[in-house]
Amino acid sequence: MHELSLCQSILNIIQRYAREHNFERVQTLWLSFGRLSCVQEKALSFSFQAVAQGTIAQGAELKFQVYPVQIYCFFCERTYEMEEYRGECPDCGSSKVVLQGGTEELRLLEMEVE
Ligand SMILES: [Zn+2]
Repeated sequence: MHELSLCQSILNIIQRYAREHNFERVQTLWLSFGRLSCVQEKALSFSFQAVAQGTIAQGAELKFQVYPVQIYCFFCERTYEMEEYRGECPDCGSSKVVLQGGTEELRLLEMEVE
């Protein structure tokens, strides 16, 4: 499962930080990803609890920052934000658009520890 391996790599990062900074418990994790990156919050939270079992991140709360889909339309000469990418401008319908945001990979932004 996609989410399990993502969670495993997040956990690896956390454990490396924990060794460097000497903390014993992770309370909250802030994660970010783009709307188009195929990450599902629920599946991710669920997998994380499974993977974090017995580690310093067990029971940690996951918070998400989801970046919207952003396209730039060459015809309108402006950027639009939307929920879904359809390969065309939501305003004028032109397909001369370029994707500018929404595909960001899952990242660990910040964590609250004790
Ligand atoms: Zn347009």
